[in-house]
Parts: sequence; structure tokens; C-alpha cells
Amino acid sequence: MSVVNEDTKQLRNYVGGKWVASTSNQFQDVIDPSTGKTLAKVPLSTKQDVDHAVKNAKEAFKAWKHVPAPKRARLMFAFQQLLIEHHEELARLVVKENGKAYKEAYGEVQRGIECVEFAAGAPTLLMGESLSNIAEEIDSEMYRYPVGVVGGITPFNFPMMVPLWMFPLAIVCGNTFVLKPSERTPLLATRIAELFTEAGAPSGVLNLVHGAHDVVNGLIDHADIKAVSFVGSQPVAKYVYEQAAAQGKRVQALSGAKNHHIVMPDCDIDKAVNHIISSAFGSAGQRCMACSAVVVVDGVKEQFVAKLKQKADELIMGSGLQDEVLLTPVIRKEHRDKVLGYIEAGVEEGAHLIRDGRKEMEDYSEGNFLGATIFDHVTPTMTIAKEELFAPVLSLLRAENLDEALEYIEKSRFGNGATIYTKDAKAIRQFREEADAGMLGVNVGVPATMAFFPFSGWKDSFYGDLHVNGKDGLNFYTRKKMITSRFDF
Ligand code: NAD
Repeated sequence: MSVVNEDTKQLRNYVGGKWVASTSNQFQDVIDPSTGKTLAKVPLSTKQDVDHAVKNAKEAFKAWKHVPAPKRARLMFAFQQLLIEHHEELARLVVKENGKAYKEAYGEVQRGIECVEFAAGAPTLLMGESLSNIAEEIDSEMYRYPVGVVGGITPFNFPMMVPLWMFPLAIVCGNTFVLKPSERTPLLATRIAELFTEAGAPSGVLNLVHGAHDVVNGLIDHADIKAVSFVGSQPVAKYVYEQAAAQGKRVQALSGAKNHHIVMPDCDIDKAVNHIISSAFGSAGQRCMACSAVVVVDGVKEQFVAKLKQKADELIMGSGLQDEVLLTPVIRKEHRDKVLGYIEAGVEEGAHLIRDGRKEMEDYSEGNFLGATIFDHVTPTMTIAKEELFAPVLSLLRAENLDEALEYIEKSRFGNGATIYTKDAKAIRQFREEADAGMLGVNVGVPATMAFFPFSGWKDSFYGDLHVNGKDGLNFYTRKKMITSRFDF
């Protein structure tokens, strides 16, 4: 059986090395955000489907955990090679189901490949530690073991990169995996499961169950799921963390964001504007590291605002497959409606709407487009300053000095990222020491970390303690066993 029923366009789940129909009779349309056309139908799978997948993953774990680490790493090398060969195809698929611009999608695929490269270092990563003679004639050693069956739940905004944050590292550590991709972007996950199989993954090591809430609840409540990796919006991240942790599972739950960029008076304004435009409006603002609030420090306010507005006016909006397009549609019409509500709230609460992207919507009858929208004179207590909008809507706040700008960051309940634009070493150091967020940028528009470092959100942007990627990821997906031996027997 193939990944999809060709007659009905209904996607299948991947369980125990086979593409199987969900037991559910409920389906949701997978929609191209640029055209509104239906690409496929995704099953809203049941707890029964989850149980079937977990059983297969548990069975596969028995053998997989004993496969030597160098052999597991070789699977990653083969997978990485296939991803490189299919780079363009995968990027096009990201554009189709997510809507982002091809260049962004191409970059996303690259970021995903780097996660597989990191996982391929498993033999070194998995090495333990030892110390001889911790007491007379006594030695101590630490070995790493897999955790068991891991559940992964992913969002729509990085359909390639986020699943690859999770399953390659989990699997190379000897775990088996059940992935539930976003029901809004299930095609990419389907394709990478196919490529993983082609790379030589044994049956049951990676399983895929499509769906929504029931699948999530099925995973977090399942006794045989030992760890849960989640990425998505804040209320769901908190829910998943609390439910799964209460049942004794390991959980890492990456959540929503509100990322502030501080524009200092000494910075290169043209460069800062370019970075902010690309960060705030690229991928239609639907990045957890997108700039959503700019804090302009006294001295450059009027000049900065004028240049920003001019650049926003020059943006080309359209399908992600067209050249030169940066501004692409948001994921669904319902999401755009919610954002329109936020824009109204901004106006009602007294922010100055200096660029109204709603006007451009009229030129696009198909697709979920919204033009670049900019509010000036936003204050930290306004709804648009506090909430994650996840859209091409940018708030400009004004501060007298760096101290005040840093206070705005501290007051935000989110703490994923923050950036400063400046050449002043003292300001950079103060920002590094005091900015209350986990991923900082100095003259960098999207300071997202790469696969070998933790993706290090703070406050309500993350629930758990071990982040995805890097050594945190390794520690999350392994259990340490300590051996203490005496030799004077
Ligand atoms: P979402 O929370 O709607 O969905 C994420 C996953 O949770 C999906 O698989 C979905 O099926 C499931 N889900 C949704 N509602 C649920 C519910 N009530 N109960 C159980 N499961 C549920 O998120 P999204 O819109 O797909 O993704 C965007 C969000 O993800 C943004 O908030 C963004 O900031 C966040 N995100 C964060 C990071 C990070 O590193 N912190 C990275 C990427 C995305």
C-alpha cells in the first residue's frame, strides 16, 4: 500500500513498516495556503491507531536498542544522503502545504539535514564517562541507554525541521518513535518517513500517526510512551507538559513566543531594517523566532520608522513559488480571522496603525494573504504587545534607553529570543547579561540555534528542562546507568 489512497486522496498512517488506513472515518482537508486548493485528506486517527503504533514501536525497540551505535549512525548517513538528493523536492513540498517562500523552505530543509548530521555523530555522543579509583580499588563508570518508545508532536510552521529535531536523535540513541505531525502539514512528514525507510530503517523504528487531539492524548496517556517531545502553541505545550509529566514521563514542550528586537541609536539603520523586515514578515511572521516587537531606543525613532515603512511598502506578496516573494499567506483562513481580531484590538487600545495590510487582502481572493501590518506607539500592556500573533503584524514600542528596553523583555511572559542592533560593546554585554530570553541575537534577525546547540527558550516559551538538539537532546533521549566496581575481592 502506498502513502495515500489514490482514489480518495486519504493519507495513510505508517505503522510497523506498513502504510495502513486509519480506523477513523473522520478526515480533514490539507489545504495549499496560497490557492485554497485541497492537496489531500488527513485522517483524524483514533487512540486505537496510536495503540497499534506504540505496540509496533515497543516490539521494534527490543531489537533496535541492541544495534551497535556505529550501525545506527550509518542509517543516519544514508538518510542524510537521501535528504540531500531530495532537497529541492522537499523544499517544494514545504511551500505547497505550508505556504512559505521557496528560499525559506530550502533553508528549512537544510536545517533539518543538519539535525541528521548531528545524529550521525552518535558513537561519539553516546560515549559514557569513567573515573578509576574513586576510592581505593573502586572504579566508577557511566553508560548511556535509550529511554524506550518516544512520542513526537509537531506544529505546522516547520514541517520538515521540527520532526527532524526529534526522531533522528531519538532513534540513533536506540529509542523507537511515534510521530504525530501537524494535521495542517502532514505531507512532508509522510515523505520523510518514506525516505527514512528507503535509507534502511527497520520496521517499527519510526511510526507515523496522523491526526489531532485524540492522537496527542493517546500518546501522552499511553503507558508505553516513556518520553514526549512537543513543539506548538503555548496553551497546548503547557497542557502536554502537565499531562505527560504527571504520568511520570520525560517531557520537553517548546511553546509560543514574542521576540523583541532592540534598535539602538548607534546601529546601522539600513541593515537593522532589512533584518527586521525579513524576520517579522518572512514566513508570514509564522516563526517562533520571528521578530514581533521592535523596541526603538531614543535617537533614531523617526528615521527608523520611516525606513521600515518604506521597506514594508516594497515587499512583494504572493505564492512561495514565485521569485522575489517574501510575504506569503498565513496557514488558514481561520487563523487570519483571529489575527484580524488582534488588529482591531490594537486600534481600539490606541496603537497607531501606520501600515494596514488588510487593504491588500482584497487583491487576493484565493489564499490566506494578509499584507505587512505595522503598529507604532504600542505600549507593553496592549494586547498586541503581549500575545503571540503569529502573523505579519509588527508592533513598535519606544524606549528612552536600553534599561527600559530590557524591562519590556523582562515583563514579557515569553522568552524564546531577543535581538539587539548596535556596535556598542558595552550595550552588547549588558544585553547578553540582562536580556530575559534564551536565544539572543547581536545584529542577527533570526537567532535560531543550529542542531549542535540547544534550542533554548525560556519562561512560557518552554516547559521542561532539557531542550531539543545538542547535548540537551542527547540527555533527553538517553538514561544514564552508573556502575561502581570494587576490585579488592
Ligand atoms: P498548535 O499548538 O496548534 O499545534 C501543535 C500540535 O499540537 C499539533 O500537532 C496539533 O495537532 C496539536 N494540538 C493542537 N491543539 C491541541 C489540543 N487542544 N490538544 C492536543 N493537541 C493539540 O501549534 P501550531 O499552530 O501548529 O504551531 C505554531 C505554534 O508553535 C506557535 O505558537 C509557535 O510559536 C510554536 N512553535 C514554537 C517553537 C519553539 O521552538 N518554541 C518552534 C516552532 C513553533
